[in-house]
Amino acid sequence: MDRSLSRWASDYVNLVLAVGRHDGDFVDAYYGPQAWKAVAEAGEPRPLAELRAEAQQLLEGVTTAPVLPDEALRREYLLGQLGAVAAHLARLDGQRFSFDDEAEALYQVRPPVTPEATFAAALARLEQLLDGSGSVQDRYQRLRERIIVPTLRVDVVFQAAIAEARDRTRKHATLPDSDHFRVEYVTGKSWSAYNWYQGGGHSVIQVNLDLPITIDRALDLAAHEGYPGHHVYNALLEQRFAKPSPQGRGWVEFTVYPLFSPQSLIAEGTANFGIEVAFPGEERLAFERDVLFPIAGLDPGEAERWARVQAELKVLAFADNEAARGYLDGHLDRAAAEAFLVRYSLRTEGQAAQRLRFIDTYRSYVINYNLGEQLVRAWVVGQGGTVAEPARRWAAFVELISSPRLPKGLGL
Ligand SMILES: [Zn+2]
Repeated sequence: MDRSLSRWASDYVNLVLAVGRHDGDFVDAYYGPQAWKAVAEAGEPRPLAELRAEAQQLLEGVTTAPVLPDEALRREYLLGQLGAVAAHLARLDGQRFSFDDEAEALYQVRPPVTPEATFAAALARLEQLLDGSGSVQDRYQRLRERIIVPTLRVDVVFQAAIAEARDRTRKHATLPDSDHFRVEYVTGKSWSAYNWYQGGGHSVIQVNLDLPITIDRALDLAAHEGYPGHHVYNALLEQRFAKPSPQGRGWVEFTVYPLFSPQSLIAEGTANFGIEVAFPGEERLAFERDVLFPIAGLDPGEAERWARVQAELKVLAFADNEAARGYLDGHLDRAAAEAFLVRYSLRTEGQAAQRLRFIDTYRSYVINYNLGEQLVRAWVVGQGGTVAEPARRWAAFVELISSPRLPKGLGL
């Protein structure tokens, strides 16, 4: 019997596809053999007990499989991903996890608690930044209304942001010749944008038009979903690992991406941190003020203050974790969790309700954005990729998005 890592990797892919029959959100991307997908989709879904037993078998198999000298990270990757598949199966089978236990089982990190005093301090700084009367929430919303992109200009603003993000990324990462990224506009979703990687260097990015889109979302979308974020991460993994040799390694496990797995912390963390790798500090402000604000027909005089407000919102982003922990662990009911988000993340009631719907579906996944970004930044800086060393920053970043490294392997 073939006991190589590659054989277990094939079993892992088929297991992930089988789990997808029980949870429609689980398989985020798949571009492996279509016959495997057909098998997974035929007949009744395999019973959860059977899938859970198989996950354990695969964990043991990967642990004891002979490994080539350059496959150490590959084994770690498979063990981390399989551990998450096993935990997600346990959840689907009715086992209850606390927020922190779930985050650790799925994403390999225990999210630290952010005290309310940290949020209150950021709100106090925002009080200074935002003039006018009323609560800080009201003043923030009034500023926000001044930088909403008119619907008819949304696409042209996004396309300008995407073109610039792509140019900047191409100077540092070798993308496939087939590199392509299509934007679609949708409504009725719990997320604000989503990258669907299709394989072959292609992505479809969907943008949710339910809520007004502020100008900062243009670069968030272009860089987070596209360049150098999710689209590039998927394309580089495909190119370097999934493709058969001589181009890649023929590592089939990279043809599937289970959403509730440690890979997602790296994916969301690099997608968020990638925005400031591609557009560090003043460069982001200059591009938004001098290019995007005019295209959107907005007053560039608002750009600088908005950038300073955004810096505080990065602190407030951790309020999502506290709201989700309280809500999922049963300490906050839905209304209280929404009120917490309105107070500390400055969302409107409508936005807070939308975030709660996201939390209903994706649960502890919320940590991957803020904590993921923080951990990725720490790792890149630890590699010498400081703000003062942009070339090393890019190099470390590209190394991370083209490696099987999972959160545990960040060594933080
Ligand atoms: Zn994302």
